[in-house]
Amino acid sequence: MEVDLHTHTRVSDGVLEPEELVALAVEKGVRYLGITDHDATNGLSRAMKKAQEYDSLTIIPGVELSTDVPNGEVHLLGYLMDYHDPGFQRTLGQFRNAREGRGRKMVEKLCAMGLDIEWDRVLEIAGDGAIGRPHIAQALVEKGHIASVKEAFNKYIGRQGPAYVERSRLTPVEAVKLLAEVNGLPVLAHPGDIQNIDALLGDMKDAGLVGMEVYYDHYPEEMVNYLAGCARRFDLIPCGGSDYHGEGLGAQTDLGSVDVPLDSVLKLLALDKERKGKAARS
Ligand code: AMP
Ligand code: ZN
Ligand code: FE
Ligand code: FE
Repeated sequence: MEVDLHTHTRVSDGVLEPEELVALAVEKGVRYLGITDHDATNGLSRAMKKAQEYDSLTIIPGVELSTDVPNGEVHLLGYLMDYHDPGFQRTLGQFRNAREGRGRKMVEKLCAMGLDIEWDRVLEIAGDGAIGRPHIAQALVEKGHIASVKEAFNKYIGRQGPAYVERSRLTPVEAVKLLAEVNGLPVLAHPGDIQNIDALLGDMKDAGLVGMEVYYDHYPEEMVNYLAGCARRFDLIPCGGSDYHGEGLGAQTDLGSVDVPLDSVLKLLALDKERKGKAARS
């Protein structure tokens, strides 16, 4: 497939370095690659530099933010934002710090439950990446407490799990505004299990949402049709991707394996151009 707008690298909880992700994308025939690490953009310039080795690949710089709603979690993607903006970087830094504090607490809870893992080991696994639950899951697997990352989520660190710890997050509307402030294009991520989606889409659209994922991971055809209908009703660009995190984290959708229309990315790029053109004139 030519378009994949949702991927992760070692800059957050993915497995591949940004350069490796770019090389793999080229191998898979991807022509437009969105890189959307959690709370981090430090892989973007590395990926863009690497992509210069090939004429076939365009990187769509992005980010993924986690937000809170009363009964769950909603993720927001942002594309083509001015990510060098110092205020934006400061905010992302705060989010990454919150990830660290909350990761530590989850490790403490796990240890108290008799599942001894070391915080230093979690830090080592994460490397320079924004710390996430997958890193903790890996430490649990290494110690032989469980057989797979999936099992860690199912038994311990999933949202309802006994070792899960919350972190404070923005609301979806606040996250949309944060991205809009730095000329980003906010896109609702994997909305398949969101309850009461029309109310949320209405609020987010008013705040500046421009798109939503419709073609995601293994969404079945009925889901894709349903979400495409939502996107049409709210005049949102239907986007999507694999949410590829790399091998070794359990079952993963392959990079470039989700059929995302070329039109999605062309619309994002056109909107970006239109807005930045306007900003330059004003
Ligand atoms: P965090 O950002 O620390 O809350 O962790 C969320 C990340 O964990 C997601 O972006 C996925 O990469 C991963 N994840 C979430 N749920 C699962 C699951 N059930 N099995 C495996 N990985 C998961
Ligand atoms: Zn992730
Ligand atoms: Fe997500
Ligand atoms: Fe993701």
